[in-house]
Amino acid sequence: MKKGKVYLVGGGPGDPGLLTTKARDILARADVIVYDRLVARRILQELPKHISKIYVGKRSGTNSIPGQDAIPRILVSNAEKGKLVVRLKGGDPFLFGRGGEEIQRLREAGVDFEVVPGITSALAVPAYAGIPVTHRKFASSVAIVTGHEDPQKSERVDWKKLATAVDTIVILMGVDNLQSILKRLVEGGCNIETPVAIIERGTTKRQRVTVGTIRTITAQAVERRIMSPAVIVVGDVVNLQKELSWFKS
Ligand code: SAH
Repeated sequence: MKKGKVYLVGGGPGDPGLLTTKARDILARADVIVYDRLVARRILQELPKHISKIYVGKRSGTNSIPGQDAIPRILVSNAEKGKLVVRLKGGDPFLFGRGGEEIQRLREAGVDFEVVPGITSALAVPAYAGIPVTHRKFASSVAIVTGHEDPQKSERVDWKKLATAVDTIVILMGVDNLQSILKRLVEGGCNIETPVAIIERGTTKRQRVTVGTIRTITAQAVERRIMSPAVIVVGDVVNLQKELSWFKS
């Protein structure tokens, strides 16, 4: 019997044009694709009908995701049947995508795997909003941080230290905790007039950019009913957005 294999593939941030050619080639050869919520539907629609496509993201309207072991089990059982399995994730699979955890399970099960990095929303979404995350004049460092850590665990992101440690802070999954995150950044020494951008559904036709400052952005977010998925950028580079914005959504 032919030996199965799992490819852990980054699907990019939304615009199907940002899928790598390597990812595209592997998807076309797949027997099974296991994907979650942030994968652009257009990528899947363009693929041959015979490929089975298994959705393992949150069920719409609920927070329930398949149990922690359910996804590795699907990957392992298909690979053991000799199938070419693609585990397709939004953006890059190793950036807040649990990709590391999933391939640890594959290794334990003795399943062959390969990783295909993707274009991450952390960089591409600011880029589509006209925000370079570094700039020789304004920012020499950038940190990419999760705004939504497991509430069961004690908090690991040290926002107060981060406040003065880097020039640009890119926050993923931060919409729900926006106010408390910004409060801690200010407590850590961030100027309250620091510019902030929130980019919803970046790189897609429905991209929407909201720009303000630490002082104003929370009220703007409420007023504009800002929703996930969104990337939050904090730092002086946000000021370039006015001049460099280019993407017409
Ligand atoms: N591995 C992914 C990130 C997964 S975490 C990557 O590399 O992009 C999920 C978070 O990514 C979302 O909550 C949001 O903050 C961000 N995100 C992903 N796609 C996005 C998009 N098209 N627009 C805005 N934010 C996005």
